[in-house]
Amino acid sequence: MTVTVRVPAKVNVQLGVGGLRADGFHDLANVFFAVALGDEVTATAGEPGTGVTLSCTGPDADAVPLDDSNLAARAARLLAAHHGLAATDVHLHIAKAIPVAGGMAGGSADGAAALVACDALWGLGTPVEVLLELAAELGSDVPFALVGGVALGRGRGEILEPLPVAGSYHWVFAVADGGLSTPAVFRECDRLREEAGTGSGDTEVATPDADPALLAALADGDAVALAAALTNDLQPAALSLRPALAATLRAGTEAGAIGALVSGSGPTCAFLAKDADAAEAVAAALRASGSCRAAHATYGPVPGAAVTAGE
Ligand code: ATP
Repeated sequence: MTVTVRVPAKVNVQLGVGGLRADGFHDLANVFFAVALGDEVTATAGEPGTGVTLSCTGPDADAVPLDDSNLAARAARLLAAHHGLAATDVHLHIAKAIPVAGGMAGGSADGAAALVACDALWGLGTPVEVLLELAAELGSDVPFALVGGVALGRGRGEILEPLPVAGSYHWVFAVADGGLSTPAVFRECDRLREEAGTGSGDTEVATPDADPALLAALADGDAVALAAALTNDLQPAALSLRPALAATLRAGTEAGAIGALVSGSGPTCAFLAKDADAAEAVAAALRASGSCRAAHATYGPVPGAAVTAGE
């Protein structure tokens, strides 16, 4: 028996980063936006005694760990443990299109997809609230990959409030060579704040909140207003660690993108275009610029992890 789940990548249209908390995390005001660029995870019942096994295909497959640290494998084990299942013999195949360590929550997406795929394969019918709790245990970005659409994430990003959104938006993602470590980018953000003299602690940095102009743009389906409101507090840190990203952002803007920002912790750069043709033109110009490894035109918002096929 086999179940295939399709799961979206995310771009943060707003990523407000508060000060460093005593527990090592930062408070975030995180507006997640799910895009059609996504992975597929296929779960197949394994031979008894084989446990959880993994395989991966796609341009970044070599960078995906196929051991116990893979979020898809951890998700399968967590779901099995929650239901007290003795046997967790399942093979998970990841068809990977989301750039690895690219700031698009690809690992989190695979974790969410594996929860949904194994739930269906094992016939568990786990209530969505429970799946969301298990997802939050796996990582801050995993619940959003289950929900999709557009949502405001608070806390570490795991407390989600779906947001009203009108229309469809056209995006381009410029994939960089090599990834950036999310913890390293947060550390660089703290360092830059210290260097600027503003301080980096949660008593010194204001707690971030969702930008009303951004929320209104989404609700109105106004791509130009959304483009003007795009913000990412991690962008200076990502640019500091990877100065070449400035040229990528410039190339997309010069090619007609109406908005540009680093996606999450980077190094993927995200561009908003006014329509599908403009997105294709921006992607072609980015490829020709030589300032990125690949460029993909896509759209959103799209739903969260969902079963597409099973037999
Ligand atoms: P985020 O935006 O959530 O910070 P990211 O998109 O920058 O994450 P991921 O693609 O999730 O980064 O990968 C981060 C690291 O997670 C990888 O370098 C890899 O070691 C590990 N990892 C674990 N499981 C997976 C997976 N299924 N796919 C990709 N990376 C994974």
